[in-house]
Amino acid sequence: MSKAIRIHAHGGPEVMRWEDVPTPEPGPGEALVRHAAVGLNYIDVYFRTGLYKAAHLPATLGMEGAGVVEATGPGVSLVAEGDRVAYAGGPIGAYATKRVIPADRLVKLPEAISFETAAAMMLQGMTAQYLIRRTHRVEAGETILVHAAAGGVGLILCQWAKHLGAHVIGVVSTAAKAELARAHGAEHVLVAPADIAADVKRITAGAMVPVVYDSVGKDTFMASLDSLRPRGLMVSYGNASGAVPPFELGILSAKGSLFLTRPSLASYTANRAELEATAADLFAVVGSGAVRIRVNQTFPLAEAAAAHVALEARQTTGSTVLIP
Ligand code: NDP
Repeated sequence: MSKAIRIHAHGGPEVMRWEDVPTPEPGPGEALVRHAAVGLNYIDVYFRTGLYKAAHLPATLGMEGAGVVEATGPGVSLVAEGDRVAYAGGPIGAYATKRVIPADRLVKLPEAISFETAAAMMLQGMTAQYLIRRTHRVEAGETILVHAAAGGVGLILCQWAKHLGAHVIGVVSTAAKAELARAHGAEHVLVAPADIAADVKRITAGAMVPVVYDSVGKDTFMASLDSLRPRGLMVSYGNASGAVPPFELGILSAKGSLFLTRPSLASYTANRAELEATAADLFAVVGSGAVRIRVNQTFPLAEAAAAHVALEARQTTGSTVLIP
């Protein structure tokens, strides 16, 4: 047997139960991973509440983990028993002491990267990679706007963008978070509630920004559009405050021929080559010290509900790891 945090219905953190589950056998193309650390991500909240739907209930939450391969099923050659591995993305099921997962979703961990760091960074760090290297290729000298700048993805984005020579305007909700974002590369930090577009206008001397990375969703969507220069790119990549409601497409035209994308890590790491290249880029910036992964909270996996409470109450900064 192994242990897992499962939900039998959608709802608040109280629906999460620490249960005995049979240890699964790896099928063809699959590997059994014994987790040393599991990542906490905002997407876990969406799956718990039902904003995003699991294929069936009961479901084991979680999209990210790091550990050791215990066994492999037929036809697996990418990893072998004893390998240190990590992963991010579906299928859900990471909140468990052990799980099976398609072996082609695993990447081998460099020795220098601990399980805890890996579980903290695979999902948030690969997301930062695609956002600033591929959704929009951030260039030296650009000024960009980053919401939730002291959060998991946020702190990585701030450091990586600075490393690329860009100037970051971060948005956070408290003075302490502002200090943290500044310490991780944000040059300007706006503390909400703020008139974000007016502040961006002042900071950029009227030029506005070429790209906004908005993970807050409903509460900030319009302010983000108003912060863009003509033909700028709105990257709406999360819904921490709720999903963006339907809106008139003409708004994009009226505000200056804006571009809008709603990207997901899954579609940027859909094939093995993209997954490996994304992870390698992340390992390189973390290995060089250009990006430091901040594990600012650790919870026992059995107490994952408390971690959800903290995340939703905006009490966390940087990354959070759950230890089985
Ligand atoms: P964070 O650590 O960034 O936590 C969420 C933060 O959002 C909070 O700390 C808070 O920061 C801010 N926030 C603003 N409004 C609210 C609100 N009403 N309720 C709760 N939080 C709010 O989480 P992650 O780093 O795990 O994820 C960041 C975002 O990126 C999430 O929206 C997530 O869904 C998205 N994401 C998207 C991916 C994709 O591929 N599309 C992949 C990975 C993450 P503050 O208090 O400073 O406002």
